[in-house]
Amino acid sequence: MRHYDQATFSEDDSPVYERLLSEKFGTEVAVEDTPLPDELTRDTLELPAPAEPELSRHYVRLSQQNYAVETGPYPLGSCTMKYNPPFTEDVAADPSGMVHPDRSAESVQGNLELLYQLQEYLAEIGGMADVTLQPPAGAAGEFTGNRIAAAYHEAHDEGHRSEVVVPDTAHGTNPASAAMAGYDVVEIPSGEDGRVDLEALEAAVGEDTALFMLTNPNTLGLFERDIEEIAEVVHEAGGLVYYDGANLNALLGRARPGDMGYDIMHYNVHKTFATPHGGGGPGAGPVGVVDELTDFLPNPQVDKQGEDFELVEPEQTIGKVHDFKGNWLVLIKAMAYIARLGDSGLCDTSASAVLNANYLAEQIDLEIPFDPFHHEFVASAGDLDASNMAKRMLDFGVHPPTTKWPEIVSQALMTEPTEAESKQSLDQLADAFNGAFNAGDEELSSAPHRTTARRIDQADAARNPRLSWHALDDE
Ligand SMILES: *Cc1c(COP(=O)(O)O)cnc(C)c1O
Repeated sequence: MRHYDQATFSEDDSPVYERLLSEKFGTEVAVEDTPLPDELTRDTLELPAPAEPELSRHYVRLSQQNYAVETGPYPLGSCTMKYNPPFTEDVAADPSGMVHPDRSAESVQGNLELLYQLQEYLAEIGGMADVTLQPPAGAAGEFTGNRIAAAYHEAHDEGHRSEVVVPDTAHGTNPASAAMAGYDVVEIPSGEDGRVDLEALEAAVGEDTALFMLTNPNTLGLFERDIEEIAEVVHEAGGLVYYDGANLNALLGRARPGDMGYDIMHYNVHKTFATPHGGGGPGAGPVGVVDELTDFLPNPQVDKQGEDFELVEPEQTIGKVHDFKGNWLVLIKAMAYIARLGDSGLCDTSASAVLNANYLAEQIDLEIPFDPFHHEFVASAGDLDASNMAKRMLDFGVHPPTTKWPEIVSQALMTEPTEAESKQSLDQLADAFNGAFNAGDEELSSAPHRTTARRIDQADAARNPRLSWHALDDE
């Protein structure tokens, strides 16, 4: 067995790696030996060596200790944790799709056709002119969209535009992506009805505005009724309008951001199109743009010439935002899901998602300050601590909602049951809400009682993670 005592890459070891590096960065790459510091190296590495039955039991036990959308409802608002039908995994596991991402376009025509079709489907669903599949997550899509906006403004001698405007209910990734793309972030307060306050928007936008980012329905689940006027205000100031696609599940097949006046959008395929997600990935965050912006899309873009599919470089491309053409296997699952549902299936999805949220809201004793909402709602735990309530809900065999966000609702429980839940599991969720809401102080502050891991010290778990199997010896 080879002994990896240092990280080394010699020419013999890895010609492909070096070639890729030099192609990507355009320089001769000399990979030097970089010995690790002594305190981080060891001579031997002790690993457990269980027999197969033990190994199998270990992983099955871990899965049983965990909570998943396959074990019960998962109404984690904003995240759209819908059930992931396993047929998409079968499609993605097809051996004919497993080709090296660096192969020539001529030799992978089938793969390119699939990507091209997905670009087209997503463009149609969003009302956009073209779509890039490259960004690996929604947040990466936001970053890409911000870079496209910057390139567009620069191409129009408007490179001085330095600000991105977001409402105070925006998901944290919106201002973070804008800042990463080099913009100053301007936050505007929501109106009393929980929607964009047009006066506040008018006051905030001007000749420095590059982009306004807004999801719809917004983070409270409320449809931004004034969206056309909002887009007009931003456009008149010379800015572009960005659609955060995390809430597309509410609109699928019924309304399109492109028709509302949005210029750029991302799709969270791991939310809307039933691709499994969690633990930070992998996902995909394709970005759609209107006609005026297609030249700025990342490189490469899949295009069709006659009967052939090829990779083309958009004229004023912002460059690459991820390796190759994006997270291929994730994109296959999204494609399989969209193709299986078709037009009518996508329409049913949004209708059921909205119906389920409204049914559940009717069954619970908590106050819901903002309505009428669509596919998700934000309930208030009132005088209770929302985290305690969420922990108590675990005892009812459900996953709790998102807690304490958005801040516009005190002790928020942001709830999105998704279209996939039956009346029975919605009732189970309602029992969990009401059981926890009406529980006594002691019951709440010591919860959860019936889970594998009890009340965890979250801060300690985050700051001092025990990542070695040796930690088991200490227990
Ligand atoms: C999930 C989410 C994002 C970010 O998407 P990721 O794919 O997790 O990076 C952005 N905005 C909203 C409203 C979201 O719910």
